[in-house]
This record gives sequence, structure tokens and C-alpha cells, in this order.
Amino acid sequence: MKKIDLRSDTVTKPSMEMRAAMSAAEVGDDVYGEDPTVILLQKKVAELLGKESALFTPTGVMANQLALKSQTEPGNEVIVEEESHIFNFETGAPAILSQVMLRPVKGELGILRTSQVVPAVRGPVYYNPVTTLLCLENTHNKAGGTIYPLEEIRTLRSAMQERNIRMHLDGARLWNASAETGISPKEYAQYFDTVSVCFSKGLGAPIGSMLAGTHQTIERARKFRKIFGGGMRQVGILAAAAIFALERNRERLKEDHEKIRILAKSLSSIRGFSINPAAVQTNILAIDISGLKENASELIGKLAKEGVLLSSMSETTIRAVAHLDVNQDEIRQSAEIIHRVMEQ
Ligand SMILES: *Cc1c(COP(=O)(O)O)cnc(C)c1O
Repeated sequence: MKKIDLRSDTVTKPSMEMRAAMSAAEVGDDVYGEDPTVILLQKKVAELLGKESALFTPTGVMANQLALKSQTEPGNEVIVEEESHIFNFETGAPAILSQVMLRPVKGELGILRTSQVVPAVRGPVYYNPVTTLLCLENTHNKAGGTIYPLEEIRTLRSAMQERNIRMHLDGARLWNASAETGISPKEYAQYFDTVSVCFSKGLGAPIGSMLAGTHQTIERARKFRKIFGGGMRQVGILAAAAIFALERNRERLKEDHEKIRILAKSLSSIRGFSINPAAVQTNILAIDISGLKENASELIGKLAKEGVLLSSMSETTIRAVAHLDVNQDEIRQSAEIIHRVMEQ
């Protein structure tokens, strides 16, 4: 039996057409700046985000960490949301690579309000750490794919500018936010000094992320990318997959959001499953199972045996993610299986 894999939007496999585009890519040594396909991708993404320059990285973690490294000094403080990817899922890299302190602030569904961020900024006393960067996440992964309101970003930007604090956007799923709201990536990105994006999530490329910003910041990041071991050679093969993904798979992200709405609607009637309808915004569904006797890993194990793969976000939260390689029929089928297991 084929398992229906809803663990993450990173489980997609490159299509034959994408592989054909990869195999036809013109390549060169990108450490020498000679890979035409990488140059083209960087130009396209810089334009899409309205930034001067962009840099290809193997992972989203590297893109985020380059944003921190190139915009902070050791001992600085970086404000992040408490459930953010940078704070939770990047292995403590800010402490290791940039020697900065993270200041987590608890948001609501991953959204930090200006009134919460401003008091977290350190005052200009000599013995205080210096707050230099604020990181936001759009869409917010752990909160369940929630979209950052543009108005809040705008007020945060002016509050941070007054205090000389830069802003970085972890936009691993910025494409999902844009597909859903119709607000272009450029409109979101204009309020940030740097933006990271992923091609390996909803867009379906096998590998690849990017950091965008000013020429000056990106040239600093390029040096640190080499230090981090991310200087790659004939990487146009991967850039070609990212170009294909950007051009072909961006609009269709709305279909993934529709799939998650179908799943959420069906599963919300299950006893012991608690789904916050306000959090069902894009391609991620977070289900609170604290009303059940089983914990997340026990339940996931049980469902996996019946052919539905989910992931856990905590002991009491499970997650389903819609993506390119799962269709509406399979979503409906997975809902039936989950109902059957839960009614046993
Ligand atoms: C996936 C993800 C990243 C980057 O992860 P990689 O696996 O390193 O590409 C960064 N931020 C968020 C919010 C993510 O979901």
C-alpha cells in the first residue's frame, strides 16, 4: 500500500520535467562566479523580492544564519518569536556561528505585535547587550502556516527604524503567504533588510534556498557562506530546478491550501482533536491532541501503520502538510483513514 505522506512539504520528489530542466542547465564554477544558471536565478529572485542582490545557499538554515552573521556582532541581541524556526530548529547555530543572544518573545499564532517587540528592545545603557536585529517568520511554521499581517510588519518596521534595528524575514514559505493573500513577495519584502526563501518546500525543488538584501549585505554574506562551507561549484544543476519550481509551481500553492481546508474540515469533528480554525491559513494543519490519552508519537505510529504519515510538533500537537505530490483524493482518503483509526 502506498503511504500518504503528509509529514512535510519537503518530501516532494523532482518531477521528470524538472529533472529534464536540471539536465539541460548551463553550468560553471560558481565560486568563480561563473555559473550562468545560478546568476540567472539570483537575478530573478532579487527582482521578485525587490532587492539589489541575492545569494544561493544549500539550505534555509544557512540563509537564515548568514542573515544573522552578516548583520550582527558577537554579543548582540536578536529578537525572535518564541516558536520560530531560528530559535527552535537551527541547532543553536546563532550561538555557535554568530555568538549572538536570542531574545524570544511569545507571539500569538507566531505573530509578534509592535507593542510586544518595542519593550524587548534593550535601552542604550553601556552594560546592556545591543539589540541589532528582529527576525519574523512568514508563513509561521510551528504556529501552523499562519500569515503575517502586512499592517503589523509596516508598524514594526517604522518602530525598528527609529531604533536603528534591522529586520530579517524568514520567508521559507513566503510563496505560500503571497499565493494566499495576493500580496506580492516584493510588497512583503520591502520592509526587511534581508529575506530568506526556500525552493525545497512547497515549490518542489530538491534543494536550495536564497538570501536577498543590499549589495553590501549580500557581499558580506558571500564571504561567510564560504566560511560556512557553502561555496558550491557547478550548482547551476540545482539552480535550474529552482527556476523551474519558481516559474511552474508558485501559483498552484493555492491548491495545497485548499487541500488543507478540506482536511481540517473533515478532521475537526474527531473527538479529542482540537483545530483552531483561525490558524488554518495555508498548507499546514496543526492539531492539538492534548484531549487524548495517547501522545503525539504514539498516535503518529498508529496512523503510519494504516498508511497515513504525519509529523509531531510537540508531545501534544501533530501536523499535516499538503504539497505537490499529494492530490485531493489522497487527502480525502487520509481523512477517512484517520477517522477510522480514531473511532476504533
Ligand atoms: C524549513 C524551514 C527553514 C529552513 O530549513 P532547511 O531545511 O534548512 O532548508 C527555515 N525556516 C522555516 C520557517 C522553515 O520552515
